[in-house]
Amino acid sequence: MRTYRIAAIPGDGIGREVIDAGIEVLAAVTERDRGFKLAVTHFDWGSERYKRTGAMMPADGLDRLRGMDAIYFGSAGSPDVPDHITLWGLRLAICQPFDQYANVRPTRILPGIKSPLAGVTAQDLDWVIVRENSEGEYSGNGGRVHKGLPDEIATETSIFTRAGVQRIMRFAFRLARTRPRKLLTVVTKSNAQRHGMVLWDEIAAEVAGEFPDVAWDKMLVDAMTVRMTMKPASLDTIVATNLHADILSDLASALAGSIGVAPTANLNPERAYPSMFEPIHGSAFDIMGKGIANPVGTFWSGVMMLEHLGEKDAAARLMRAIERVTADPRLHTPDLGGSARTADVTNAVCEAVRADNF
Ligand code: ATP
Repeated sequence: MRTYRIAAIPGDGIGREVIDAGIEVLAAVTERDRGFKLAVTHFDWGSERYKRTGAMMPADGLDRLRGMDAIYFGSAGSPDVPDHITLWGLRLAICQPFDQYANVRPTRILPGIKSPLAGVTAQDLDWVIVRENSEGEYSGNGGRVHKGLPDEIATETSIFTRAGVQRIMRFAFRLARTRPRKLLTVVTKSNAQRHGMVLWDEIAAEVAGEFPDVAWDKMLVDAMTVRMTMKPASLDTIVATNLHADILSDLASALAGSIGVAPTANLNPERAYPSMFEPIHGSAFDIMGKGIANPVGTFWSGVMMLEHLGEKDAAARLMRAIERVTADPRLHTPDLGGSARTADVTNAVCEAVRADNF
């Protein structure tokens, strides 16, 4: 029987609560399927560790992750540690060296959940956002000079490489090809940003030539927010830069009902390094420890992890269980307008996995 090695990094805030819940439902899936096992190793990396030792993760952290089949990540962030330290010290410290350049963010309105957009149904909003995850605006290129003085200067330089844009574009076209509508929207801001974004446009047109069966169009990011809200059904697969897709996917998750249900996969498509799966939300300190965090985004990230591991049947079973549970408003957490607790949702999904007859 195949055993997959999973690194669980709950991180900070509600990350711990939702990853515990996620491990529980994944255990229910493996018990039900019996075709494979998950050997989970827990890592207590995050802000508490930073406060104790000065580092979010140990110096040999990447080496300890290297042999894993996948990483199941909660969130990094703490009210008393600057965000750039928590982000660069853990999440980006894993994503970048492991070349997880494709960040995939599916958005759907799950059964039982209402979009805040009037009259928009599940058929109207079914997107996958592909976020370039290795360069662009978050490449870390820049610096500060004359720190603290009145003439201080800070630069933040976006890096767009031909190789980097080509590979994410090919990934997005390939993904669009697997979806029923075979439609890709390429988002840029090439009217105002006339170097890197124009390179994106040019490469999109070149790569499109390799995918004659995929329809594609272009949008400026500002106009894209309007199209997502006013004409959601006109979109399917979307590709955008690190920053633009970061923002658009938060909007997407809100339009699909709650940031608490949205999943993401940070993929190294070549599988040279482990890929990482996480809910898109952050550490949500305002609800930490209250037992009311919505674990659905973490469960759905677990589905993506199982798909990546090649366990398609188990992934489909877990997704069916999640949808059976979201369909019941009594099992909605407060972010969805309900009064269920994390544990109620978790138990119900485990139960639905056990009861699944497919
Ligand atoms: P970070 O700085 O780590 O990104 P944050 O608190 O600024 O954290 P989020 O964690 O994304 O950002 O939270 C934004 C809002 O959404 C918060 O009010 C939070 O309570 C809510 N929220 C986020 N995730 C969930 C969840 N899983 N369940 C319920 N509410 C959530």
